[in-house]
Amino acid sequence: MKLELAKKPTPLEKYIFDGKEVWIKRDDMTDFVASGNKIRKLEYLLGEALERKSDVVITCGAIQSNHARATNYLAKRLGMDVILFLKEWYPGRSSGNFLLNHLMGAKIEIVTPNEYEDIDEIMRNRAEELESMGKRVYVIPEGGSNFIGSKGYEDAVFELNKQADLEEFSAIYVATSSAGTYAGILSGVKKLGLKVDVRGVVVHKKPTDVVVEKIKRILSQLGIEDFSGINLLRGFEGKDYAYPEEEDLKMIKYVASESGVILDPVYTAKAFRGMMETMGEREKVIFVHTGGVFGLFAQIQALEGIL
Ligand SMILES: *Cc1c(COP(=O)(O)O)cnc(C)c1O
Repeated sequence: MKLELAKKPTPLEKYIFDGKEVWIKRDDMTDFVASGNKIRKLEYLLGEALERKSDVVITCGAIQSNHARATNYLAKRLGMDVILFLKEWYPGRSSGNFLLNHLMGAKIEIVTPNEYEDIDEIMRNRAEELESMGKRVYVIPEGGSNFIGSKGYEDAVFELNKQADLEEFSAIYVATSSAGTYAGILSGVKKLGLKVDVRGVVVHKKPTDVVVEKIKRILSQLGIEDFSGINLLRGFEGKDYAYPEEEDLKMIKYVASESGVILDPVYTAKAFRGMMETMGEREKVIFVHTGGVFGLFAQIQALEGIL
């Protein structure tokens, strides 16, 4: 069952940056507290949670996880309890998404980066514990990235297809981390028989083949047999996940001053830079703005340097 949670369709807006034609799909405007890309995945995931009559939702992420923030807000509004397993890692704890989660009274459990390696098992164990006490638990993997969540991004492509002639664009760019967004977009493009290239700018250090395997698994679960066209761009991840380079911070400033569009330091700034550095002069492309604005306020110290 799909829930209608996001404000849709999100706008598709034309911009010129540095003489290049970039249309931005404003998925940073899918909501306020639940803004960004995760809400589209959660329309399906929380729909299934409700269908199964779950009373508790468990999910996980980095300390500044946008997915955890969106899940906490939406699942609670739908009447379910939420437990967030967050990885203690990046500084800036009491700010951004973490602050919002606290304000909304989240049940947060901090796990070390080492423990987080086994996060699926940790969540499963907690679910079993709660189920033995009579609860019905729905576990959502990191980033909401499984084939159920990815359906939300097939839908986003169908939505885009109504907003523009996608044959006029050579590529769609999107930030890629847990890769469910990328897989959903590529699946949607394939189901419509479009030729547009889907370029995922990877924002963490995990090996490309691991990301590709996950995308293939999701594609096949979505009924796609042809795995051609998986196009992941590397070299823009910087030092690691959530560590932007100075060029990324400068990109945030440049894009904001040119257009008023606000990128985030963890995902979209890296992806936008990846796009600007790889797109051809004559290409006309779509940038899917996946949100993340609250994460900006967890890195204000780094941003001081480029103001
Ligand atoms: C989670 C997230 C992404 C990456 O989406 P995946 O499906 O995990 O690859 C990109 N941008 C923002 C702002 C996000 O929160």
